[in-house]
Amino acid sequence: MSFDLVLFGGTGDLAWRKLMPALFQAFRHGTLPKDGRIIGVARDDLGDEQYRALIQGRFGEVDGAKRPSPEEFARFAQLLHFVRMDLSKPEEFQRLKATLEARAADTVVMYLAVAPQLFTQAIGQLAAAGLNRPNVRMVLEKPLGHDLASNREINDTVRRAFGENQVFRIDHYLGKPAVQNLFALRFGNALFEPIWRRENIANIQITMAEDLGVEQRGAFYDTTGALRDMVQNHALQLLCALAMEPPINAHADAIRDEKLKVLRSLKPWSPADLAQHVVRGQYSAGVIDGHAVPAYRDEAGVDPESRTETFVALRAEIANWRWAGVPFYIRTGKRLPGREACIVVNFRPAPHAIFNAPRGAANKLVINLQPRDGLQLHLLAQGQEKRRNGHTLTPVHLDLDFDKRFGSERVGAYERLLLDVIDGRLNLFVRSDEQEEAWRWVEPILEGWANDDNGPRLYNAGTWGPSAASAMIARDGASWPEEL
Ligand code: NAP
Repeated sequence: MSFDLVLFGGTGDLAWRKLMPALFQAFRHGTLPKDGRIIGVARDDLGDEQYRALIQGRFGEVDGAKRPSPEEFARFAQLLHFVRMDLSKPEEFQRLKATLEARAADTVVMYLAVAPQLFTQAIGQLAAAGLNRPNVRMVLEKPLGHDLASNREINDTVRRAFGENQVFRIDHYLGKPAVQNLFALRFGNALFEPIWRRENIANIQITMAEDLGVEQRGAFYDTTGALRDMVQNHALQLLCALAMEPPINAHADAIRDEKLKVLRSLKPWSPADLAQHVVRGQYSAGVIDGHAVPAYRDEAGVDPESRTETFVALRAEIANWRWAGVPFYIRTGKRLPGREACIVVNFRPAPHAIFNAPRGAANKLVINLQPRDGLQLHLLAQGQEKRRNGHTLTPVHLDLDFDKRFGSERVGAYERLLLDVIDGRLNLFVRSDEQEEAWRWVEPILEGWANDDNGPRLYNAGTWGPSAASAMIARDGASWPEEL
């Protein structure tokens, strides 16, 4: 199968940090279809050779194991081409059209790795130039809009030019091996499904922590914030994977129909819930790994009086028979103590205690998403220790390290997703109705914050966010993992 992958924004940060290394890995693993071209598009005046040299230079900044040797790059470079083009100029689409028509590949992938302000114009112009034939697949990166209205505007524009099955909305969390394993755990094994419900599960916690600040993206982040950047998309997709009903098969729409039902079942926000169950924070100066780091408001590109949240913790509920009354806690933030993403499923304690058990030591399943990828099942076992009033149980855990077990077979998130786009598999991509439903649920939070003069609570960089996040969960008698 031949393919042309057009990388709009082919000289940008996303292209060289994520997409090129992922494409190179697929090339190295022999999974990238053989007869392909990768066509970078940007306004720079580059020829193919200059573009290849630029990308080779950038590979020098990529993680060592993922860096090509000069021989490997020389072979990979044969795939790379460049088309100079300004997406805001309709007449320049003809140049791209000529490049694509010179070869007529079986599949054409258009990857919009450019600022979202260019999306609607670029999509409209691709259609006007006749570059929306059925063999064309459109890949859209976040952020897809700023709120429900702007998300709908993008989706409406895409819909006028492409069928829904031609549109691949990336949520790179869905490409992570651990998330695919969550689907495998739930729907490929009979063990967990019978207990995967309110009768047995006390609460579920999703943590997505970063120790980094806003780096060079202060101006972008200041208009976005943690709720839009992490919760509306990644956290809610994880929540769907955890809470959805078993789909009737593994086809994209069967999976996406079930995820959509979860989003529709999320309990809407009342003013009282917003006050009690949502905490927003912003980092002040602090220490990370022994280094002093500045406050968010002192970062380059950030308004010195910014009220943008760099931390969110919230308590969601899913109003259906399986999950009624079970809290789903979501917590994400920047400048937290480490880079760590995990899900903790806390099971209810044994209904009748005949042993002594340490406080908070009920069964739990921990799903590690990053930096490690694996599963831990926490159980209670009989150790050697004896007490006067009987035996005390000791927490132990079964530890499945997927990195160790599957090692070199593992495929990174962007590599998986890019291969899926080229092959036309939509399972790990988000449908427009899912996105709109997610925006509908988060919008009242944004509106509530806009009308709240208090602004975000400050937390010191290097800590787990404002103490109100611990107080929120403690009101339910629960605690975050590091507080046990
Ligand atoms: P970036 O580094 O600023 O790169 C933007 C790219 O777009 C450059 O190649 C630029 O090249 C090109 N470009 C800008 N205006 C253009 C125009 N009018 N016509 C043609 N090309 C144009 O941005 P980025 O960080 O790669 O981000 C791109 C998109 O991905 C954004 O929507 C961002 O939010 C999203 N995203 C980025 C990341 C990430 O890790 N960076 C992660 C997730 C999502 P020229 O200026 O030479 O034209």
